[in-house]
Amino acid sequence: MLIKAAPHCRRPAVRRPEGQSRRRRRYNRDVNDVALPVGAAPVGVGVFDLTPDALKEVLSGWNEPAYRADQILAWVYRRDADDYDAMSNLPGPLRAKLGASLPIYRSQVLARRVAADGTTKLLLGWPDGATSECVCIPDSDRRTACVSTQVGCPVGCLFCASGLDGLQRQLSCGEIVEQAMRVRQVCGDARLSNVVFMGLGEPLHNYHATVAAVRTLNAAWGVGIGARKITVSTVGLPKAIRQLAEEGLQIKLAVSLHAPNDELRRQIIPWAEAIDIASLVEAARVYFEKTTREVTLEYVLLGGLNDAPQHARELAQVAKGMRSNVNLIRYNPVESLPFQRPDAAAAERFMAILRAEGVNTHLRRSRGIDVDAACGQLRRRSATMGAVVSRRSG
Ligand code: SF4
Repeated sequence: MLIKAAPHCRRPAVRRPEGQSRRRRRYNRDVNDVALPVGAAPVGVGVFDLTPDALKEVLSGWNEPAYRADQILAWVYRRDADDYDAMSNLPGPLRAKLGASLPIYRSQVLARRVAADGTTKLLLGWPDGATSECVCIPDSDRRTACVSTQVGCPVGCLFCASGLDGLQRQLSCGEIVEQAMRVRQVCGDARLSNVVFMGLGEPLHNYHATVAAVRTLNAAWGVGIGARKITVSTVGLPKAIRQLAEEGLQIKLAVSLHAPNDELRRQIIPWAEAIDIASLVEAARVYFEKTTREVTLEYVLLGGLNDAPQHARELAQVAKGMRSNVNLIRYNPVESLPFQRPDAAAAERFMAILRAEGVNTHLRRSRGIDVDAACGQLRRRSATMGAVVSRRSG
């Protein structure tokens, strides 16, 4: 039987780094206001792709009773079973059938890096050879999983390792949920408390898989993370933000602004050429009205580029227009990219200006900086090493 996934101011000019070219691909006008590259579809289905109803449908095709679905999902999500053989209340033939046709974990952990601050980064390899990153970020009694939504990223922000090679393919709902479950394994006895969609990729460009994954992460039958502990971060697709506002989810939305005006934003985020800040402000207002969740503006401080006092004053005006709070983060340098990490004093001054303007602002600590913390770096390093190894052995 074929199992299908469930539907559900004056500044230096910024130059595109060498090798980072604009790509011409198939385009999509589904949930976005502008034509965006589609990317290949994921291959294969695992148990993390399925809702209880979808799993019941599979089982009914095998003449198995519906309650078996609840038993299987309880083993997977409540008891962390990674093998059907552990499911002692299932008949042996059913366990064998499930094992042969509906894998639980589909990824392999190809690399695991633990930083001095406890941040653990995993590189996962999928059956088709694609790789993705996820991170466990410990912070006192909180454990946050940072998950990816795409293999590579189509946005191509000039300061980011993930966008250097463009989009390879979308990740499925199950592949996104599986990352959170892999991180939960890293947590050990500590409870996974938060999930942030801030890894590789643009979540709203993989809209349906992202929303399906949010529902599974939030569901009582699934991972069971409170909606208010789940954050989806986007570079800002206004139509998709408005659609997300209608999903009835109480999740947090973060918009990666990174520049306080369109001119500078277009220099560092290629998609900003088609999406201006005014349309983001409007979409964020709609999100706030529908969900009562205040939007967070993410702002990576790039030394000498977007961290001047006048940028802070402009950013304050944008934040007030959106009713948003601001998260500042000092740039984590990426090998081969020409951007600088500002010093701590410059970041503190920037934050002080925003706060003086009445904007709720936090300066986030850089986590796991000794383990290729910026998203996409571990994957890139691994791919580069793989290429070197294959060239040496070829
Ligand atoms: S910063 Fe985010 S949106 Fe931009 S290229 Fe990197 S992963 Fe994509």
